[in-house]
Parts: sequence; C-alpha cells; structure tokens
Amino acid sequence: MATDYAPKDLPSHLRLYIGGEWVDATGGATFDVLEPVSNETYITAASATPEDVNKAVAAAKKAFDEGPWPRMLPRERSRILHKIADILESRDARLAEIESYDSGLPITQALGQARRAAENFRFFADLIVSQHDNAFKVPGRQMNYVNRKPIGVAGLITPWNVPFMQESWKLGPAMATGNTVVLKPASYTPLSAALWPEIFEEAGVPAGVFNLIFGSGGVAGDALVKHPDVPLISFTGDSSTGATLSTNAAPFLKSLSLELGGKSPAIVFADADLEAALDATVFGVFSLNGERCTAGSRVLVQREIYDDFIEKFAERAKNIVVGLPTDPKSEVSALVHPNHFDKVMSYVEIGKGEGRLLAGGGRPEGFPTGNFVAPTVFVDVKSDARIFQEEIFGPVVAITPFDTDEEALELANDTRYGLAAYVWTTNLKRAHNFAQAIESGMVWLNSNNVRDLRTPFGGVKASGLGREGGYRSIDFYTTQQSVQITLEESHSPRFGVGGATPGKH
Ligand code: NAD
Repeated sequence: MATDYAPKDLPSHLRLYIGGEWVDATGGATFDVLEPVSNETYITAASATPEDVNKAVAAAKKAFDEGPWPRMLPRERSRILHKIADILESRDARLAEIESYDSGLPITQALGQARRAAENFRFFADLIVSQHDNAFKVPGRQMNYVNRKPIGVAGLITPWNVPFMQESWKLGPAMATGNTVVLKPASYTPLSAALWPEIFEEAGVPAGVFNLIFGSGGVAGDALVKHPDVPLISFTGDSSTGATLSTNAAPFLKSLSLELGGKSPAIVFADADLEAALDATVFGVFSLNGERCTAGSRVLVQREIYDDFIEKFAERAKNIVVGLPTDPKSEVSALVHPNHFDKVMSYVEIGKGEGRLLAGGGRPEGFPTGNFVAPTVFVDVKSDARIFQEEIFGPVVAITPFDTDEEALELANDTRYGLAAYVWTTNLKRAHNFAQAIESGMVWLNSNNVRDLRTPFGGVKASGLGREGGYRSIDFYTTQQSVQITLEESHSPRFGVGGATPGKH
C-alpha cells in the first residue's frame, strides 16, 4: 500500500529483467518491500531462484560471446554511456523521489546522489576513449604491447545505502569496458534499480548486456557468486558478507573487488580551523542518515579544544532537522528498514553504558513510529567500547579526547577497519606525516569527503580488497594480455640438432 507521500505512478510489483525481457521468478516467489516511514509493504519484488540466476548469466554470456557490445569501438560505447548520463540528468528529480521514498534518504541528498550516478557514467564514457596502454620496443628484435580485453559476465552485488549511485559506480566501468553484467541490488531497496532497464534501452544498450535480478543475498547473490560463467564479482557491503563471498568465490579463482565496512576516524587537532572542522565532522557522520561507509563515526579531538568542541558538536546535533524524506528541509530522515533501525537503536543503548550522552539517544521528538533515530552524540568514549569499534551505520557518533599526535594515531588505527580518515590541522608537516601513517585506504586533509573519480577508492584491513576508481576500475574490469612479436629474425636455442648450444632467450 503506497502512502500519501508516495511518488506518483509507482509500480505495484517489480520483475526481473533478463535478456531484455521483464520476467517473474521461476515458481513466482516474491518478497515484500517496505517503505521506511510507515514500515508498510508498498510493493513486492520477484525473488530470483538459482535457476533465474542461471538464465540471467546465460543471457549475459550470450550477449558477451555473440553480441556487439564487447566488439564496439570504445567511442561507440562511450556515446551510449553519455546518453545514459544525459537521461539520468534529465530525470534526476524522479530518480531522487523514488530513491528517497524507498530508502528514507532525505530528498535533497537523494538528488545529489542521482547526479553523482550520472557523473559516474559520464566519467567512464570519457575515460574509455582516452585510455592508453603500454607498448615497448627492443630495437631490431621485438615489439611488445598490451592488449586490453573485457573479461566476460561481471556479477555486481550492491548494498542498500545510496543504492542507485552505488550501482552506477559498478555499472559505469563494467559496461564501458565491454563486459556484460548481472546486477543484484540489496533486497531492502530494489525500487530505483528497476529504472535501469528503461534507461539503458532508451540509450541503445543491446539486449542481454544488462540483466537485473532481485532476491536475497543468501540465494540469488550466492548463486551469482558461485556461477562458473561469472569470472568477476564486484561487491559492496558488510565486511562479514565480504568474507563469505571470498570463501565462496575461491574455488572458482574469480577476480574480486570488495568494498566493505568502515569505522573511519576524523581527527581534530587544536590548531585546526575549528568551524570548518565542525561543519565537516557533523556532516561526515550525520549525512545520508549516517548510513555511509565512509562516515567519520569516530571523532578524535585534542584535549585543549575538547570541551569547547564537544559542546558545539552536540549543539549542532540537537539542531539537525529530522523530518520526512520528502521534506527538502530534512537533514536526517528514516533509516532504511526496521531491522536496521533495531540494530542502530541497540547500539544507542549500548552507548549509554560506554560514553556520556550529549545529544539524541533515542527517537526524535514527533516521530513515534517509523525508522527515525535522533542524531546521537556520545563523548568520552574509550577505545575498547563497542561503539568505538563496531560499525553502527546510523546517526551515532563516538567522540574521544587525545593529548599527543602519537596517541591520536594509535586511537585512529585501533579498529579492524581502514576505509577513510579525515585529519584537521593547519600544520602541513603533521598533516602529511599523519596521513601516511594512518591505516586507511583514503585520507582527506582539511576536507570533507569530496570524491575525485580519478582517485582509487577502497579500504585496507576489514574495509576491503582491491581498488576501484579511474584506471583502477578499468584494470579490474579488463584483462591485460601482453603480445610479443619478433622483428626480423627469431632467436631460439636450437634443440634437437645434436647437443646443447648456447642461445638467447
Ligand atoms: P550486506 O553485506 O548485508 O549486503 C550487501 C549485498 O550483498 C546485498 O545485495 C545482499 O543481498 C548481498 N549478499 C548478502 N549475503 C550474500 C551472500 N552470501 N552471497 C552473495 N551476496 C550476498 O550489506 P548491506 O547491509 O546491504 O550494506 C551495508 C554495508 O555496506 C555496510 O557495512 C557498509 O559499510 C558497506 N558499504 C561499503 C561501501 C564501500 O565502498 N566500502 C559502500 C557502501 C556500503
């Protein structure tokens, strides 16, 4: 049942999209999709069985083996990708309302994410035509060059936070490089993914290049990971799921890209521009409802400024506008699903025994139902606290004081995760030395999380394996074959002519 704030013309049921056709799951199984403000089921989606996964992979394989997509000139594929970006830009408002309704993201932030999805396609459309590879010459002897090729069927498995943007981050490079794909979005948020087929058809993507399956991770996702005709899997999600995927993909020796969880530190030194640091750290943990892998969910603050900083931080948190996803004034809105709400709320309760509560700590006023959590600030949190160590993935921050650079570094590195880090200081030497010593895949110095798509994205430790972004994505989605040819005479040792002779290799 759609509510009165539902976008117009919502479908009542989502089907799978295989080989250019919308189909129901074999046996007709479906699952319910809830809307996070009322937590009522508003649509059902087809729940793919392993047999459906086989069909989707077969369609993608056929499009790869026999279709035009991998054989097109990069410029031809690039034009189609630019068209996709144009369509996404022209429909950003619709995309945002769909995403916001399904996931609970505040509408203004969903709009930003829709535009990022367009930019992801545009970026890889440009990159693929300017791509160059190595060629080497050994004068008079040999020419060697790199022949870069798409790999085949890419399995793309994505999470429920900013789902459409996450999907575009994988679809863009996977398709730009000439692979065909099977996408398995998270089952909490399938609605926006159902927009891809129409967009791709309109832009001229041949049938079979893009296939979409909905369903549970344990069944549909699992079958994709274990499918022998899917040589590469790009996964974004929880670290424990990433570990399971690694195990399941191992017997097939698949290429894996794993973008996993985080518990990223934001370190604020006493010499920092405090107003800028405050803006960024508050935004860093509460934007996207705190459901953000790179959230600065641990804020480490130097003792001299600690009392002042936490007071201002808590003040800001209390003033954050919590509201309906549709309201353009909302800064934080409903979490994606009641299960996730329960998880975040359980951490809020745990936090009450581990830190001093300065803001939030439960439901926000005026929202007795739905998945709303008030922006919550715990201070004086020790490094062995669960709210310091574990990914909460909601609007909850742990703030901890430190005295010296050494102590700050020790605290920053004292988790199993290593995705992002944010450092606030005006001391250049400290900024760079600190950045280089932090165990994280990405560091922002005096900056909020501003993405340059050319830079590598990914984590260390439990935050992931591999890097995507710019040429790293091209490297993941292609194979690099080296081709050697002899110029003039070939030089081989002559075996079988009566005893070993010295020769050149
Ligand atoms: P999740 O691991 O529960 O699910 C992610 C996807 O994997 C879903 O599509 C799910 O259905 C599927 N899946 C689950 N079990 C599977 C299995 N056994 N085999 C194959 N597929 C399976 O994660 P989530 O709760 O949807 O997303 C939140 C997590 O994602 C957080 O930990 C967050 O930090 C992480 N995340 C990381 C990044 C990053 O770039 N590092 C970005 C966004 C989110």
